[in-house]
Amino acid sequence: MCRMAPRIALWLALLSGLLMGADPEPARPPSADDDAIAPQHTEPLPVVVVVPLGNVDPALVKFVADSLTRRFFFDVRLHEPVPHPEAAWYAPRKRWRAEKILDALDHLDVGDAWRIVAITEQPISTTKGPVYDWGIAGLGSMGGKSCVFTSYLFRKLKKKEPDTYQRYMDNLVIHEMGHTLGLDHCPLERCIMADAKGNAIRAAKASINEFCPRCHRLIRAHLRATDVQGFWNRSELLLLDSIP
Ligand SMILES: [Zn+2]
Ligand SMILES: [Zn+2]
Repeated sequence: MCRMAPRIALWLALLSGLLMGADPEPARPPSADDDAIAPQHTEPLPVVVVVPLGNVDPALVKFVADSLTRRFFFDVRLHEPVPHPEAAWYAPRKRWRAEKILDALDHLDVGDAWRIVAITEQPISTTKGPVYDWGIAGLGSMGGKSCVFTSYLFRKLKKKEPDTYQRYMDNLVIHEMGHTLGLDHCPLERCIMADAKGNAIRAAKASINEFCPRCHRLIRAHLRATDVQGFWNRSELLLLDSIP
């Protein structure tokens, strides 16, 4: 009997981990009634532009915009589709170099938009350590203007497991946005900022799709130290549904 106890505890831990992973707290849209957390916006929200690269399912583009709107007080706008930048094409592997996409996005005319979030359905890659061309799900410039991600690695789930597909895509959108908010990778594999370490599906599966308290604090510290400080200090809370 005594030997059983740790096993039961382990199963309970595994089960609760599974439940956390399968059914994260649903994200809440900003609510005017929620005085405790809703900032009093006396000036415009930062504009975030969603840019489809090439041919992207309009439902996916809308999903990305909704995903951002659920988490952040942003004015999320849809940009018309733009072609993948020619300079980013990597012919040997027939995919697009993400860092070159980011370079091009930084020069895209998006008016006074604060951040650019680009979505493609095609494979993307970048250099990781000694590997020149490493396939990735997304790339975000740390504390920078732009991020890009692809649905390509999750494409087989789209019809087969639509709920899982959406959860993984939500994870990806917020993860890359997190990089532009100054976050590096997080050592906690349940945190939305965990490094995919070459396996985007495994990482998305392990994530609870939320920022851990440490990452939460780092976002605030980053925003306080940047030119958006005034706005965010007054707004105070930018995340609606994170772990306390
Ligand atoms: Zn990352
Ligand atoms: Zn974290």
